[in-house]
Amino acid sequence: MKRFFQKISLYARLPEMRLFWFFLPFLVILLAINIFYLPQIWVFISLIIFLVLGAIILVNNLRFAHSNMEIKIERNQLKSIIFNLSDGVIAYDPNFKILIFNRAAEEIFNLKSEKIINNYFSPEKAQETSLKLLTQVIFPSLAPVVVRQSSPGIYPQIIDLSFDEPGIELRVSTDKIFDSHGQLLGFVKIIHDRTREVELLRSKTEFIGVASHQLRTPLTGLHWALESLNKQSLEDSSKDLVDMALSASSKLLKTVNDLLDVSKIEEGKFGYKFENIDIIKFIEDIIESIKDFARQFGVKIYFQKPEEQQIIVSIDSQKLSMVFSNLLDNAIKYNVQNGQIIISLEKTKEQPYIQISIKDTGVGIPPDQFDKLFTKFFRAENVERISTEGTGLGLYIAKNIIKRHGGEIWVESELNRGSVFYFTLPLDPNLIPAKEITYGEI
Ligand code: ADP
Repeated sequence: MKRFFQKISLYARLPEMRLFWFFLPFLVILLAINIFYLPQIWVFISLIIFLVLGAIILVNNLRFAHSNMEIKIERNQLKSIIFNLSDGVIAYDPNFKILIFNRAAEEIFNLKSEKIINNYFSPEKAQETSLKLLTQVIFPSLAPVVVRQSSPGIYPQIIDLSFDEPGIELRVSTDKIFDSHGQLLGFVKIIHDRTREVELLRSKTEFIGVASHQLRTPLTGLHWALESLNKQSLEDSSKDLVDMALSASSKLLKTVNDLLDVSKIEEGKFGYKFENIDIIKFIEDIIESIKDFARQFGVKIYFQKPEEQQIIVSIDSQKLSMVFSNLLDNAIKYNVQNGQIIISLEKTKEQPYIQISIKDTGVGIPPDQFDKLFTKFFRAENVERISTEGTGLGLYIAKNIIKRHGGEIWVESELNRGSVFYFTLPLDPNLIPAKEITYGEI
């Protein structure tokens, strides 16, 4: 009961109840006039009418006040959630007038929301030192390094922005805001400050780089010594031992070399040298060099050539041959006895790219593991069961090399039926990114 009266007194004080209180004195006066000037029966009837009318008005007003209060509470809750989010949130209308600027945004940009909200932004604002960073986030084409994580034109757009002096790494997701009729109201940006994560990754990479560099020299010496030993005439038992040691040292050397490549990629120092080459001839040479290895596994390789005699693309041939040898190695290793591999090359329709596919008849990849395939150290469960070899770094390196060439890489696979790895390369050198960028895990 106490709570009921508390609620009533709360509603009674709401602005929506003002109309009711305004009319109440008039009703009382009207009632008094009735009492003095009308016969008793009419006083009684009008009293009942007044009471019913008053009750209807009161109930309606209370209901209205209640729903309004709920809307207000929800709005305030939403406001406070947005305000207290750990990621920065900025919303602006189509004229770039800022509507929301939360606390995390204040910290990232070192600006107070009172100074930003209701202000119009344009690229010229980048000239003001204090507003430079925020303007570059609102107009990402002004930022020094932009890495697109989502396809252009598709919302939400996700991009990574890097800034020097001060060094800041941001991931920005931009989405459109529509009203219930589908009219564009503006845009919202969620800004995740990943400076610390990138720094951590950098120091981890540095450590791996230094460690693998230190390991490589003695390992190469060891490998070379074992190779020389293997060439000498040895007793059968010693030969087996040397063979085993040689195979172990070449696996170790491969792991160390892969780790060194990963650390160079992540430091942005893999070093690419682009040249124009005929991709058809390039693939033919690669097939020739890997034929013996495929034969050992009883796997046949076919090349479905395009109609054109020659297709010139701008590539780093040494890096691209790493991609081919990794994809072909996998297609051989994870194939079945007497399996086959088909390499196809074609120009993509209506876009200035070529598409290369490598199809095998192997063990396939479990569908729930597709998204982890191009991440570091990942090996699918089905493969781990049949082969203990492999670093899980090859596809990660391949993805970075293809992205650096301005292409995309993806896979289609059916368990126990085979896999097809696809990648594209641009025909137009202008589509190759200007700088070396890492497509890592964060
Ligand atoms: P590695 O082959 O050294 O394990 P990769 O990065 O080259 O590392 O490949 C990662 C994982 O992807 C493999 O361990 C395997 O599970 C899966 N994979 C790659 N290519 C194929 C393929 N052609 N067929 C089946 N699984 C594959």
